This record gives sequence, structure tokens and C-alpha cells, in this order.
Amino acid sequence: MYDFIRISISLLCCILPCSIAFNLLDIHNRTTARMGIYPCRIDLKREMINTMNEIVIDYNNLNFHKLQLHTGSTYPLGFNNISTLCDTDDKRYFGFMRYDYSKKYNDTDIFINNDILRTPNTLYNTLYHEVLHAIGLDHTNNTGFMNYSVSTDIYGNVVNDRRKLYMSVDDFKGVRYLYRRQMRKNKQK
Ligand SMILES: [Zn+2]
Repeated sequence: MYDFIRISISLLCCILPCSIAFNLLDIHNRTTARMGIYPCRIDLKREMINTMNEIVIDYNNLNFHKLQLHTGSTYPLGFNNISTLCDTDDKRYFGFMRYDYSKKYNDTDIFINNDILRTPNTLYNTLYHEVLHAIGLDHTNNTGFMNYSVSTDIYGNVVNDRRKLYMSVDDFKGVRYLYRRQMRKNKQK
């Protein structure tokens, strides 16, 4: 009987790590659980600003990190805890997130291709994916924003996704982990 329990427990231990499937980008040492988002230009496309606003509201409802989208394009002093939002015509990417490899600064830059601005669901899903990168999540094989890719037709044109995605359990576990780790770090100071 005890052997059976021990075997079950050791089996559980083997299985558990596989179920924690989110992956982290080892880039951040944010000093607060707040992240300011600044448009890179004052005339950044309205679609982008409105979609980011939607994402900020959705994400803040989780009560983890607090995101705040600022208007205008004035950078605050220093670079910590900010993310810049910008558009790009770089055909290689529909969206990407850039960060400081040297880990000197904690700022991140989100770029969204102008090609997806007219496909609102695709824009939302791509931008949410990049925001979660900026918070610290990497790609995963599990369903969710971190396993999202833009669909194109046979001519290479962007297809509007049928719906806006919801945060998956895996995405949720990932951001919750990052938030709690940040809170622990703050307490230790
Ligand atoms: Zn990605």
C-alpha cells in the first residue's frame, strides 16, 4: 500500500513539471509591478492605440501587473519599467518585442506591422502576444497567446482571426508566476 502511494507520488512529481508549460524570457528585473506604455510617436495609428487600450483594460482586470497606456510620446526619465509601442513596415514580422540584452535597462519596445492594422482581431491577438512578451513570457507549445501566430491566405495577405483570444490557463499561470515573483522580490528589499 505504502509502496503504491510512494510510486503514485513519484509519478506525480514527474508529471507536474510538464504541466507548468509556460516559458519565461530571462530579461526582466523590473522594480515595480507597474508598466507604463508610451507611443513612439504622437500620431501613432488610432487602431493601435484603441487596441492597446482594450488589452490594458483586460489585463488590468486580472489584478496582477498594472499597465498604463500614456498619451503623447514623452519618455519618462530613465528607462525602467516602460514599454514603447510603435509601428513598423518590416516585412519579416507581424509583430515583435525588442529588449535590452545587456539587462542594463528594463525597457521593452513593441513593434506592430502596419499590414495587420486593418484586421482588428488579428491586431488584438498579435498585440496581446507582444504585451505578454514585454511582461516576461516566452513562446510555449500550450494553447494560448504565447502559442499564437498570424494566419495568411495563399497570396500572403493577413487573414482577420475569427475572434479575439482569451488568456489561456497557461498564459494566466505564466503572468501570475511573474507577478508573484516580483512581489516577493519587493518584500525582500
Ligand atoms: Zn512571439
